[in-house]
Amino acid sequence: MIPPVTSFLLSQLTDALTEREAAGLLRRRRVLESPQGARILVDGREVVSYCSNDYLGLANHPALIEAAKSAADKAGIGSGASHLITGHHALHDSLEKALANFVGLPQALLFTTGYMANLGAVTSLVGRGDEVFADRLNHASLNDAVLLSRAEMTRFPHNDVAVLEKLLAASKAKNKLVIADAVFSMDGDIAPVQALLELCERYDSWLMLDDAHGFGVLGDKGQGILSHAGIASPRIVYMATLGKAAGVSGAFVAAQPEVIKTLIQNARTYVYTTASPPMLAGALLASLEVIEAEAWRRTHLQTLVQTLKRSLVLQRWQLAPSDTAIQPLIIGDNHEALRVSERLLERGLLVPAIRPPTVPKGTARLRISLSAAHTVEDVQQLAAEISALERESVGA
Ligand code: PMP
Repeated sequence: MIPPVTSFLLSQLTDALTEREAAGLLRRRRVLESPQGARILVDGREVVSYCSNDYLGLANHPALIEAAKSAADKAGIGSGASHLITGHHALHDSLEKALANFVGLPQALLFTTGYMANLGAVTSLVGRGDEVFADRLNHASLNDAVLLSRAEMTRFPHNDVAVLEKLLAASKAKNKLVIADAVFSMDGDIAPVQALLELCERYDSWLMLDDAHGFGVLGDKGQGILSHAGIASPRIVYMATLGKAAGVSGAFVAAQPEVIKTLIQNARTYVYTTASPPMLAGALLASLEVIEAEAWRRTHLQTLVQTLKRSLVLQRWQLAPSDTAIQPLIIGDNHEALRVSERLLERGLLVPAIRPPTVPKGTARLRISLSAAHTVEDVQQLAAEISALERESVGA
């Protein structure tokens, strides 16, 4: 028999879960039984997927798989230790150099995930008595990083550089750090990075950019936001993830050598964790080559974005303004967003409904995520199904 105290603890959790479900906010997982791609096998059925971050279609690319296998043959599977002990393999080292070179910054440091990279970078740069200025729509990992750093967190309205300037001008903090997603993960729009950098120069602040959704996609060779916007400065701290367009896993921070050396000393999410398997670094070296060489993937992705915009015929729902692979269809109501997502799934199209608290209240949406693996016909079919569902709901 379960002792009464335990059952009280469990019933509290059950109540909270029931409340979540009633509000249409219960998160669920699906089981993927195929590699990632345009067509996936999920929960036992084949669907066209519009929900991965595999923007270039590299997650199942033969060259990456081959590189991983050959790296595993040479380097084994487990890294066996943290980077500072004996986990820092030559493949990690080569990858760091290649990444720094690719994004045009002096040095790079690998982290096992983007979440860890953000926690490590922010907590190493700022602490008590410092102030961080964060875009209101920044990714959760950046917000958590600021909380963990104990610096004061000041959030500014999304992309509002005028408000940011007033806040920076009024700040008395010793060190300042402005942080923004380069491409916003739930909206797909691009931060005004040139204007952000100008403000950081004027008010002597660091500028940290989280390019999780721009790396591989933006820039003529996929170098990301810095190349796309043509900006460079020693005050830029650049972070990008390697599990999205790059098709593998992990993340890196690139910056001046002083910053990277500081992270190696102070970033607890770097120091106190096992290095990722070196075979992943092997796959990522191959991924960088494909990203650079196969420019058609970025061109095709742009064609798909334009196809979606042109083919949707909507009265009530709206695509958010975005020219990237992330195309949010704003529906508003949580239950309606879920219902549309379910109806699309009945037609074999997997498009996730994203609801608060991930996005602001009243802006529940379908996050349509396009990939170079889709065809133009795939996207035309998606647009036709969404347009038909909206007509049905307006008529109802
Ligand atoms: N930053 C942004 C903007 C993201 O979208 C994500 C992942 N969703 C992360 C950081 C975290 O990266 P990772 O998945 O590698 O932990």
